[in-house]
Amino acid sequence: MISQLAPLVEAQLPGAVALRHRLHADPRVSGQEEDTAAAVCEAIGLPGEPVAGTGRLLRLGPATGPAVVLRAELDGLPVPEQTGLAYASTSGVMHACGHDAHCAALAAVARAVAEVALPHGVLVLLQPREEAAPTGAGDVVADPAFARHDVRAVIAAHVQPVLPRGVVSAAPGAVNASCDELVIAVRGRGGHAAYPHRCDDPVLALCQTVAALHHLVSRRVDPLDSAVLTVGRLDAGTASNVIPSVARAHGTLRALDAETRRVLLAAVRDVVVHTAASYGCEGTVAAVSNEPVLRNDPGLSGLVAPLLVELGLHADTRFRSCGSDDFAHYGAVAPSVMLFVGVDDGSPGAPGLHDARFAPPDEVVGELAKAYLAGLVAALGTLPE
Ligand SMILES: [Zn+2]
Repeated sequence: MISQLAPLVEAQLPGAVALRHRLHADPRVSGQEEDTAAAVCEAIGLPGEPVAGTGRLLRLGPATGPAVVLRAELDGLPVPEQTGLAYASTSGVMHACGHDAHCAALAAVARAVAEVALPHGVLVLLQPREEAAPTGAGDVVADPAFARHDVRAVIAAHVQPVLPRGVVSAAPGAVNASCDELVIAVRGRGGHAAYPHRCDDPVLALCQTVAALHHLVSRRVDPLDSAVLTVGRLDAGTASNVIPSVARAHGTLRALDAETRRVLLAAVRDVVVHTAASYGCEGTVAAVSNEPVLRNDPGLSGLVAPLLVELGLHADTRFRSCGSDDFAHYGAVAPSVMLFVGVDDGSPGAPGLHDARFAPPDEVVGELAKAYLAGLVAALGTLPE
């Protein structure tokens, strides 16, 4: 099947690159992707049906029975573009995470797949709101438009600047981390800066709390496991001579293992409550759980690797990171694999994902399409004749 489909996909690439330029020039932020979804559907030649609000779901092949899902994300980011590309966006919104290339590659594969007689259904999922919480994948899974299909596998491909061009990584097991957003509040008596003994000083208590939180990963996590806790924002006070009554820290907790995540979340609460208490303050934590751990199905990722090689790509099985992606939600539905497609051309200081200068070359659309194709053929091969 792969030798039949590969040339058909190849023939679709010039059109896919033109689509990529159109999507890139006119991006939409999370939750406002109607025009992007419509442009991709028009390129594929099918209307599809709405899913999770601004997303679309298109079915190819048999209308009923088992199906394999190919997913691409629709949204851009609120980043003013600085790539200098001829087709750069000028609206203050940018495809800085490669979703334009993902959609274009998936359109090429969908058009190729539509030319052959498929043994099973293929669901093209144009997913909204990957970049903003609450993310779209959870809503897709809960939407009857998606849930009524007999989904047997879910495949995604994502550009990855850490990997060289031509390399596609399909590591088995955990490849992206769970993600919990934390808001830590420390409250106590405020007052005059010159009378700290009459106050509790939430600012100092919060500073000690943040420092103590940074010991958790090094002391509570197995050194062979991975997790990260970053505090990226502090809010406190209004003047240099006033001790405020509340101070807040905002952070993110990532872990590659569900039990590690549970242990760390409990430990964060202990540190916040007890450190604040030792300063006479009250500490609280509000945690918003965004994504679970993204686990690639070991069997399916093993089947993808030789197909990638057959398509002329270098298959790798090492890439993992504490990034997070809402693709993790599909793992609860069916065996799923996220394929990381290298875009590093060796130029020093090349911009990474979400950078205003991130501009992978058009050839990456072809490499993404091959990754989707390898994932699709591998997944179809696991279904009964
Ligand atoms: Zn992305």
